[in-house]
Amino acid sequence: MRLSSLPIATQKEAPADAEVISHQLMLRAGMIRKLAAGIYSWLPLGLRVVRKIETIVREEMDRTGALELLLPSVQPGALWHQSGRWDLYGPELLRFTDRHKRDFCYGPTHEEVITDIARRELRSYKQLPVTFYQVQTKFRDEIRPRFGVMRSREFIMKDAYSFHIDEPSLDQTYQVMYDAYTRIFERTGLRFRAVEADSGAIGGAVSHEFHVLADSGEDAIAFADDGDYAANVELAPAAPPAQVQTGSGAAMEKVATPGAESIAAVSESLGLAPRQCVKTLFVCAADEGPPVALVLRGDHELNAVKTVKLPGVAEPLRMAGPKQVQSATGAAPGSVGPVGLSGPVYVDHAAAALADFACGANEDGFHLVNVNWERDLPRPQSVDIRNVLAGEPAPDGHGTLSIARGIEVGHIFKLGTKYSAALGATVLDDSGASIAMPMGCYGIGVTRIAAAAIEQNHDSAGIIWPQAIAPYQIMIIPLNQAKSDAVREKSEQLYARLADNGYEVMLDDRDVRPGVKFADCELLGIPVRVVIGDRGIKNGTLEVRGRRDSDNENIAPDELDNYLERKLAG
Ligand code: ATP
Ligand code: MG
Repeated sequence: MRLSSLPIATQKEAPADAEVISHQLMLRAGMIRKLAAGIYSWLPLGLRVVRKIETIVREEMDRTGALELLLPSVQPGALWHQSGRWDLYGPELLRFTDRHKRDFCYGPTHEEVITDIARRELRSYKQLPVTFYQVQTKFRDEIRPRFGVMRSREFIMKDAYSFHIDEPSLDQTYQVMYDAYTRIFERTGLRFRAVEADSGAIGGAVSHEFHVLADSGEDAIAFADDGDYAANVELAPAAPPAQVQTGSGAAMEKVATPGAESIAAVSESLGLAPRQCVKTLFVCAADEGPPVALVLRGDHELNAVKTVKLPGVAEPLRMAGPKQVQSATGAAPGSVGPVGLSGPVYVDHAAAALADFACGANEDGFHLVNVNWERDLPRPQSVDIRNVLAGEPAPDGHGTLSIARGIEVGHIFKLGTKYSAALGATVLDDSGASIAMPMGCYGIGVTRIAAAAIEQNHDSAGIIWPQAIAPYQIMIIPLNQAKSDAVREKSEQLYARLADNGYEVMLDDRDVRPGVKFADCELLGIPVRVVIGDRGIKNGTLEVRGRRDSDNENIAPDELDNYLERKLAG
């Protein structure tokens, strides 16, 4: 491709609303353009990256024997009524009616549609197991679309669905998919990690997420460096502390803490470490009754996924408003605590192991110190409602946890018979009995991977594409081509030769200053650049440089093929 024929200019600055680096760089490099909130056009360079990712995904899915199909993106509401999800899915589902006033939605996922195919086509256990997949546009009316194509409303997903006669067969395909995902992410050249994940409301006990590791990731993942344990922090269980504190015997006392509302301020005002203070949060109750109190150590963070599974807690998790807190405790949220509460209370294991702790006094501007379970308030049964922290032992007993940030790029689930039972997708087994097929589902965020790759691989000059998903592999930069016939000719020759040899090459044949060409080449993240100038031609050398290298190399033209092979390997 000749840059002179690409009518999309790179930009020095990104719009102010582009918060994360991948969003900024994708806009500046001319990969994407925003059409509406969370809805993006893919321009030529961006689309090449998407296509490369799709190709890797397709090759590895085909290798497992999965069958590609393409399902409609517009789906009849009737199917969603049958599965029960029309009412459950909430406002993320984009709904509309056709001219006959029939309900439709734009597919956020395709369990209903594929199960409809399965119930029509599959008759016998002899046709199983079978896995179908597609690469297709989804729409989810995300409450906060942000970070460009990383959390957009319209995006491309590869989704696959498997059908089985029994659970052992599902287990087998699940492992095949796990391995295929591992190969897919290895081939993209990204650093990633597979972790145990919450399977949410979808049901099914087992699920794994694949995360691209990047500091900007929305998810926290916990893993043992010296063991096998790896899980989303949402899910990772926090064990009760090995030791329970014993009190000094000092009496509980009420202390004025004017203006101190946060744990940091309370801890400073009382001269007590945050881990010796407890915080009490209130969430809405499932039955609209008084809010549920959650008691945690001051240095611990509430885990919403664990909390929402507790009996009596409303799903989705909602913090109680200040008015509700006031009527439950008589105080504002900054001064509340568990002593004397009459409503439902859950205490985290670590908070339950404290003695002589501090908490809000349920009176504005006051806290209690030297509080002890059993003596000053009933010792409640404790639960796990906090996030694990780095340095804690891994839940499986092997090694110590580290925490890293991750971007979820893939998610595999064992669904069980939720959809096949609801929609009547049955086959006959070898004894002639009708069986609802256990199912698996397997998603990959194709367009999110493009952004995640940039989050993980960039520097101050721009994108650094792993070569497997770079839009082009090589950029040829002629210097002062307008004045030098030799430079122009050599560049054209090299461009033609490399393209003939199967390389994906860009030629920056624009009449712009060398500095502009170098800057754009770095911004676009092209893995190798080859500079052609009069000096090199005179010396019989080519100037080459890999995107991650700090220096140029001058090589003889007939060494170029070796150099490229080395640089662009794997
Ligand atoms: P998230 O937790 O990030 O909202 P999810 O768990 O709802 O994602 P899945 O239903 O597991 O997503 O979808 C499969 C994959 O599709 C995800 O692993 C992710 O890579 C991708 N994906 C999901 N939502 C979006 C989105 N809004 N924008 C881009 N990609 C997405
Ligand atoms: Mg997911």
